[in-house]
Amino acid sequence: MSIPCPHCNSQNTQKFSLIYRSGTADINLTTVKSTYGVGGLSAGAASTSGTTQSHLASQCAPPEKRSYFLPVVGIFIGGCVLSLLVGAWVIDVMYLLLIGYIVLAIRHNFQYYPMWLQEWNEKYICLRCDTIFLVQKSGTQSFPKLLP
Ligand SMILES: [Zn+2]
Repeated sequence: MSIPCPHCNSQNTQKFSLIYRSGTADINLTTVKSTYGVGGLSAGAASTSGTTQSHLASQCAPPEKRSYFLPVVGIFIGGCVLSLLVGAWVIDVMYLLLIGYIVLAIRHNFQYYPMWLQEWNEKYICLRCDTIFLVQKSGTQSFPKLLP
């Protein structure tokens, strides 16, 4: 079922989540190299893995949750190193930063993230005029709506 664009009425529209899934792929590459020189023949292999993503898919990426572990460990290690260089008062600042970061991360993950994820699930893009719009469904009816 195609949703018409509320701006130009084109039927050439796609859902953000579909663009993201179709433009993102996991890759596993193996490179084999051989050389022949003074010492004789030598060969080696290296493997690379990761994710490849189209430009449009990266623009249509879903919102992300805030991480707890790495920032907390980073602030803790940074605070410990700075306290050795500058003084013990840095530990108090570090605790304030840790508490502040954790409060903001919890607020992001439990208050804002669910709203942004739901909005992302309702987002469409018109591939003719690049208009991004929301489609809210009620039963079998769809209601396209331009973003403010
Ligand atoms: Zn359009």
